[in-house]
Amino acid sequence: MSAAPEKLTPHLRALAARSPAVARQFLASAEEEAPADPHDGTDPIGDAAHSPLPGLVHRYPDRVLLLPTMACAAHCRFCFRRDRVGAGRMGEAEIAAALAYVAARPQIREVILSGGDPMTLPAAALADLIRRIDALPSVDVIRIHSRLPVAAPEAAAKAASVLNAETRAARWLALHVNHPDELTAETRAAIRALHRAGFALVSQTVLLAGVNDDAPTLAELFRTLTGLGVKPYYLHHLDRTVGTAHFRVPLDAGRALAEALRGSLSGLAQPTYVLDIPGGFGKVWATAAFVEPDADGAGWTARDANGGAHAYPG
Ligand SMILES: *Cc1c(COP(=O)(O)O)cnc(C)c1O
Ligand code: SF4
Repeated sequence: MSAAPEKLTPHLRALAARSPAVARQFLASAEEEAPADPHDGTDPIGDAAHSPLPGLVHRYPDRVLLLPTMACAAHCRFCFRRDRVGAGRMGEAEIAAALAYVAARPQIREVILSGGDPMTLPAAALADLIRRIDALPSVDVIRIHSRLPVAAPEAAAKAASVLNAETRAARWLALHVNHPDELTAETRAAIRALHRAGFALVSQTVLLAGVNDDAPTLAELFRTLTGLGVKPYYLHHLDRTVGTAHFRVPLDAGRALAEALRGSLSGLAQPTYVLDIPGGFGKVWATAAFVEPDADGAGWTARDANGGAHAYPG
């Protein structure tokens, strides 16, 4: 497989020059070429097994992922779709087929736009897609996953001003942000613009070695986000993707961090620590209720929401 080439925006290039945490996330490194761990793959969370149509992933009964573009403004070196980001956009026929799939299944209540970064689409095209999803009567939540307010905040603020049309469905935006250094004045302005445009905001953070794997950094990130009106939603255990081993935080260390935060942060500022079980079994809480160490201490067992047990290397 070939990883996406290094790609940064001018905003991130400037930020990387003064923030080691930003540099580590976006500058390509020789560590990516380390020999692959046998547990690592190129589709660690099993998107392919749950993709009934191009650009659509339907893993949970009540919600679908729509991937209208695989382009991102910048390439995160730890991305689990790192061999796929950069190229490809759904054509009109594929979008129409995906929307028809949703329309035919009223149990689908939420459409999540992901990718790639859907906010890199021309704002008018994204506004049109939102309007078409809003016209599906059983959908009451439209969620966009985006890193654009971090990567290209001025472009995100501009897009927000085009995405301000009222909708029947609630519009949520899940902001991918991993370190307090990413919350620049420009990014804060983009967050305000998204709020003004009518989006409710949550955040997603990937736990990354050498970037944010210490309690003070995470506490500052989650407190700052909460103060900006962005609810910390998920802290993701890193998926097992080839070329990202240098970012891995062991599961027990991640759990210790999540526990340390429990004691010191407002409930509003606490994300849920989650892991995506390899093979497409879905996201589960990475806490003791779902993931237990094996008796021999060599690995872990993760239980999916249906009670299935899965070996997990850590
Ligand atoms: C992560 C994910 C979702 C969203 O899951 P939530 O727990 O609702 O945030 C939906 N579909 C797929 C395929 C996913 O990977
Ligand atoms: S913005 Fe998301 S999809 Fe794009 S490279 Fe980063 S992690 Fe991957």
